[in-house]
Amino acid sequence: MEYIKPEPNKKNYQQLLEKIIETWQKDPEKSERRPRLLMHSCCAPCSSAVLDYLCRYFDITLFYYNPNISTEKEFMHRVSELKRLIHEMEIDVERYDEDGKRLGAVSVVVPDYDHKEFLAIAKGHEKDPERGERCHLCYRQRLEKTADYMDEIRSKAENAADGEVLPYDFFCTTLTISPMKSAQILNEIGEEVGAGHGESFLPSDFKKKGGYQRSIALSKEYDLYRQDFCGCEFSKAASERERAERKMRDDK
Ligand code: SF4
Repeated sequence: MEYIKPEPNKKNYQQLLEKIIETWQKDPEKSERRPRLLMHSCCAPCSSAVLDYLCRYFDITLFYYNPNISTEKEFMHRVSELKRLIHEMEIDVERYDEDGKRLGAVSVVVPDYDHKEFLAIAKGHEKDPERGERCHLCYRQRLEKTADYMDEIRSKAENAADGEVLPYDFFCTTLTISPMKSAQILNEIGEEVGAGHGESFLPSDFKKKGGYQRSIALSKEYDLYRQDFCGCEFSKAASERERAERKMRDDK
């Protein structure tokens, strides 16, 4: 498959994430409550290991905004697997840790599917290789919408009775778990989007420390649907081409 090799990361984004968690926990004013995280989620396999790790530290809402997915059928299949995963992980209900501290239930927000939104930003980039400019636009679109939703909840919280609506502290994306995606680019886009909205982007490189391998193990454990293409029709065509080429090589 044609794709652009990522540059080595300039920063260790997973270490930055760990530092933020540690700073929160050491802050006497903050440590009494768990931070609230709005996490853009692309699919169940990528979310599995990320949830397994972050659920220990955050109250999480998954934001399944993915207009890049080529058909509504595929979109619905991926989100139903995501909902099944959080149900079977038993994290869709309120839980308590060993010290009796409440752990929030993980919920899923699903904005309406409209593939035209993605096609509009991908126009002129149909032939870009994976990890090229089209992908950068696609990451930005999904993170912008996530930050928009974070803003929406923040203004609802400001106008609601005390504690009725709680704003988020951070937003992030599961996309950095994929070895096919550059954590450097994703984090740079996330930081820019966060700065534009005045919201805090949580850095990550979830594939580090065995995160990607953990997602494969959890996908097997929960028998998750693992798609063989990223999402859009262009990635689907590239994946089919690669399969056909492999078959021709094997048949020789
Ligand atoms: S290959 Fe993936 S990241 Fe790139 S544009 Fe398509 S769906 Fe988006």
